[in-house]
Amino acid sequence: MSKYESVIGLEIHAQLLTESKIFCSCSTTFGNEPNRNICPVCTGQPGVLPVLNKKVVEFAIKTALALHCQIAPYSIFARKQYFYPDLPKDFQISQYELPLATNGYVEINVNGNTRCIRIHRIHLEEDAGKLVHAGSDRIQGSTYSLVDFNRTGVPLMEIVSEPDMATPEEARAYVQEIAALLKSLGVCDAKMEEGSLRCDGNVSIRPVGDKNLGTKTEVKNVNSTKALKDALDAEIVRQIKAVDAGERIIQETRHFNENTGQTISLRSKEEAHDYRYFPEPDLVPLEVSKEWIDEIKQGIGELPAEKIKRYVEQFGIKTEDVETILESPGMAEFFEGAIRLYGKPQIVANWLTGEISAYLNAKKLEIKNSKLKISTLVGMLALIDKGTISGKIAKEVIVKMLDTGKSAEEIVKESGATQISDEGELIKAIQEVIKNNPKPVQDYKDGKKASITFLVGQVMKVTKGRAKPDLVNKLLEKELS
Ligand code: ADP
Ligand code: MG
Ligand code: ZN
Repeated sequence: MSKYESVIGLEIHAQLLTESKIFCSCSTTFGNEPNRNICPVCTGQPGVLPVLNKKVVEFAIKTALALHCQIAPYSIFARKQYFYPDLPKDFQISQYELPLATNGYVEINVNGNTRCIRIHRIHLEEDAGKLVHAGSDRIQGSTYSLVDFNRTGVPLMEIVSEPDMATPEEARAYVQEIAALLKSLGVCDAKMEEGSLRCDGNVSIRPVGDKNLGTKTEVKNVNSTKALKDALDAEIVRQIKAVDAGERIIQETRHFNENTGQTISLRSKEEAHDYRYFPEPDLVPLEVSKEWIDEIKQGIGELPAEKIKRYVEQFGIKTEDVETILESPGMAEFFEGAIRLYGKPQIVANWLTGEISAYLNAKKLEIKNSKLKISTLVGMLALIDKGTISGKIAKEVIVKMLDTGKSAEEIVKESGATQISDEGELIKAIQEVIKNNPKPVQDYKDGKKASITFLVGQVMKVTKGRAKPDLVNKLLEKELS
């Protein structure tokens, strides 16, 4: 890698969460029986006319504003022509020369560094249908294919970045950032594994320091941000090997095989002129008024990046904790609610991002559908503060709270896991530990004061975490002096 650097630009296709399709009133509901959500328009019958869905435009404008783009007061749709069985009209209505929005940017964080990635353009288009290959889950090995037009005409928004990413890791962070943004705007559910967010990775290499771009390849078929990173890593390695072997990189589309971890050539890249783009004669130009843009702007709530800044500034919690909180639906509201009742943001954040997130992730649950309530979490934190339970015991208590919905008090009462407050009982445990650990005790007496940490740990073990470490420390010192 030392001689070369990689350059990456991404094209993201996001399915917009409108109830109806982009050019007809068919439902966009996912998972219906094949060919139920169809009509003459989205199946390309002769003589029908498309009508643009206003909500689609609103969602794209919302996104464009959040990505600091300029919104074109005037943009047009175009026909992108190609033949494929999932495309009944033999052309896709897209935007080509005059897209809805251009020249934006988004900030991403990688290993503590903030990078600005420019957005080249955002445009609207319709999705194609879906081929269902019989007898196999792919073309290879199947005897015939069926076509499902339910997805045909589902609105897509394409977000094209500039080639501003230098590493596959940055590419991954970029997709995560865009996905979080789309979700928080409510315009796309951004599930890569289900295809509601799709991403093509364009990548090239060049000698370090070279200002010119090398020839790029486009990697398709990645259905997670991890697969994207792996695919780009593999493709960069392949390109370097090829160039070092004296080969030339050819512009092509490549397919990532997750099983082999390799990319393979799919087809040589078509050029724009292959599609014979021309302005869509059945749609009027899309005109967007300044008033409408202002109105949409007003309706945009706090964006993830703004929320991260605010949480860090207002609550003083760690950026990575904020990111974890924001990734999990409904957790930000929970967090703010808990702080209103309890204060101490970092402590609340530690519990939410630690034990609670681990539990929710393992059960594939969202916090609002879990049995934990803001009030019960705060109740548990109060028990720790009062010294009724130790932090260690609390980790077990919280799991039981999540399992049962009971309060911490109830659980503690049932299990008798309260902290030992009787000094006599503690001293007994301490004396036992002193007896069983002559070497560390001698070390301590010889001046190696640090060995008390070990002894405290032993006492905690003997009491099954039900002792207060600082009290144990004090009593131990007394016993040993
Ligand atoms: P195409 O016409 O092949 O789709 P575009 O110029 O529209 O190509 O770019 C598509 C994507 O590829 C954009 O995200 C862009 O940033 C990226 N890209 C363009 N050239 C390169 C390059 N040489 N290396 C890496 N990415 C590139
Ligand atoms: Mg392209
Ligand atoms: Zn339709």
